[in-house]
Amino acid sequence: MKLKRSIRLRDEKILGHDVFVQVDPFVAQALVDVLKFQKFKIDPQAIRMTKVFFAFYGFGYRIRSRKMGLEVNGDTINWSTVYHEGLHNIIGLRFGTKLIGRPMMTLLNECLGLPLPLYFMASLAQASGFIHRNTSFMQTIIRDSKRLGLPFEKNFRKAMGDPFKAYKGAVLEVFSVHKRLFDILKASKIDGEKKLRALTKELKGSENVFFYSHSTPVVPVLFVTGNCGMNSIRADIRAVHECLEILHASKTFEDFFKNLGVSKILAELEKSDSSSKKAA
Ligand SMILES: [Zn+2]
Repeated sequence: MKLKRSIRLRDEKILGHDVFVQVDPFVAQALVDVLKFQKFKIDPQAIRMTKVFFAFYGFGYRIRSRKMGLEVNGDTINWSTVYHEGLHNIIGLRFGTKLIGRPMMTLLNECLGLPLPLYFMASLAQASGFIHRNTSFMQTIIRDSKRLGLPFEKNFRKAMGDPFKAYKGAVLEVFSVHKRLFDILKASKIDGEKKLRALTKELKGSENVFFYSHSTPVVPVLFVTGNCGMNSIRADIRAVHECLEILHASKTFEDFFKNLGVSKILAELEKSDSSSKKAA
C-alpha cells in the first residue's frame, strides 16, 4: 500500500520495534512514547525533502513540524529513524529546544543520537548470542570498518560485552570530532590542512567508529553554524556539562534515562495529550 496522507505514529507502524522493545523495554518504549504523546505523524511528503536534503533535513529538532518520513514503500517507518528522533526530543524537552546561542548542546544532542543503532544492535547481539550481520546498518558498519582498516569483529564483540559503555564511548568520540570541526569553521585564520590531518589521525584511532556510517561528520556542524550561530550563551555550556555529567554517572541506558527524568517528561506529555483528547 502506498500512503497518500500522513498517519499518526503507532508502535505497530515501526519496523523492528517489536524486537528492541523486548531487548530494552524501558528505553525503546520511551523513545517511541515521547513522539506518540506529541502526536508525531508519519508523512509521505517528509521523505521527499529528506531525499533532496538528506542528512541536513534529517538533523535537528522536528518538534515544531512533528512529521517524519517513510523509510520503505507502504506506511511503515524504520526503528532507527524513530528512536533517533525520539532521543532528540527527550534531550530537547529536558535541556530546551532553542537553537540560537546553543550550538554546543545542539551538537551534543546530535552526537547522542548518532550511536543509537550501535547500542541497540550490540544489545540485540548480546541478548540473542549472535551478530545479526544481514541488516542494512550492520552491512554498512562492516563495509566502513573495512574501508578504514579497523577490526570490525574485535570492536563489535567488545561493544556486545557492554553496549552502554560502547555507546558512551562513541558519543564522546563523535562529540570531540564535531567540536573540532566546529572550531575549524569558527577560526577566521586557520591552517585547515594541518587541523584536518590531526583530525584524520584521531578518527583512525577511535574505537567506536560505527557511528560514521549513516551521517557524514560535517553535516551536523554545518547545521549548527547555520542555525545556532558560532557563540554559546552561558546556558548552552551549562547544559552540555550537566548532560555529560549525567551520561558519565549512568551505568545503563535505562539508568541514563531515569537520571535525565524521562519518566516525568513522559508523564507530563501524556497528561497534556489526554486532556487535549478530552477537549476535542
Ligand atoms: Zn539527528
